[in-house]
Amino acid sequence: MRSVEAIIVGGGPAGASAALRLTAAGVDTLILDKEDFPRHKLCAGWVTPEVVKDLDLDATSYPYGFLSFRRLHWHLRAVRLPLPCVQHSIRRFEFDHWLVQRSRTELVRHAVRSIRRAGDHYVIDEAFRCRYLIGAAGTGCPVRRALFETEMPRPRGLQTVTLEVEFPFEWRDPDCHLWFFERGLPGYSWYVPKAEGWLNVGIGAMANRLKQRGETIRQHWRHLARKLQHDFGVPLPDDPPGYSYYLRGPGGAPRSGNAFLIGDSAGLATRDLCEGIGPAIRSGRAAADSILSGAPYRWGDGATGSLGDGLISRWMDWAFTRGVSPVM
Ligand SMILES: Cc1cc2nc3c(=O)[nH]c(=O)nc-3n(C[C@H](O)[C@H](O)[C@H](O)COP(=O)(O)OP(=O)(O)OC[C@H]3O[C@@H](n4cnc5c(N)ncnc54)[C@H](O)[C@@H]3O)c2cc1C
Repeated sequence: MRSVEAIIVGGGPAGASAALRLTAAGVDTLILDKEDFPRHKLCAGWVTPEVVKDLDLDATSYPYGFLSFRRLHWHLRAVRLPLPCVQHSIRRFEFDHWLVQRSRTELVRHAVRSIRRAGDHYVIDEAFRCRYLIGAAGTGCPVRRALFETEMPRPRGLQTVTLEVEFPFEWRDPDCHLWFFERGLPGYSWYVPKAEGWLNVGIGAMANRLKQRGETIRQHWRHLARKLQHDFGVPLPDDPPGYSYYLRGPGGAPRSGNAFLIGDSAGLATRDLCEGIGPAIRSGRAAADSILSGAPYRWGDGATGSLGDGLISRWMDWAFTRGVSPVM
């Protein structure tokens, strides 16, 4: 059995951010991930200036594609609001690989199945043993399942369903577009251009609300496909892949003994724009800091939205989750 001080299950932005801090501080740390990196991850790859700052990411020395938008177009039925902005896009295939490499932490390909406590240690699949355990494996995180699920069940009303494709495409419109509440969708769809001729198109909505309406996300995808073909000349496949994750609920940063949950495994994406990369990075750093200093595991300023806790953010949260679509 291999014994190390800290094990991180999942090498996405959350896990890699925790690893960076722990390894830099001299803690013997291992990342376990079920995939070989670089690996595909469904995500629009929109990153905020806060993420760029948190990562100390210098666009000129970042070794992969990095695009900045000058305008974000908000669409609400016939209303189109082009707002000046500074926002960015990356490809997760590249970005996550870069983050893991930057952490200088060994990544072992291993799909974690079982976890048990053994005194003040944790044993994983009878193959690995550690004193500190960090769950960073996204929605189906086995650390969550083994150590947190009973006391902290997932809040059903905060589950999202998404569909998305990313493909090489010579886009002509270099801005980012978001369509809210199209045909009563309790969520939004997006068009996110990427550097070097890539394009990401996707759709996300609250699972519970869709079910109450007797609709599926695939029905809404078909509408989006027609619209994108008509308005942008973008051909979309009929059967895109999907992923489900949870938005931020009540309760703080989950910790039990020396086990921590970070990123999507903790359900930390924002309630208005469903942004998860920033919260993943911040929670990963906070868990590492807590291990290093012995201080309580805390992160964030309590805000639930990417747009802060102002009126627009609260209105979007309400419209997504409370069963009322402002536009039918
Ligand atoms: C369609 C879609 C679009 C999105 N768009 C955006 C966006 O534009 N901007 C934004 O900020 N957020 C976006 N999000 C949310 C964002 O992708 C997530 O919040 C973010 O990736 C969370 O990071 P993480 O490190 O917690 O988890 P992940 O990035 O999911 O990493 C988890 C890792 O755990 C590994 N793993 C899983 N199970 C196991 C196991 N049993 N054993 C070992 N390893 C395992 C996986 O292989 C993976 O590498 C989007 C999400 C979706 C689904």
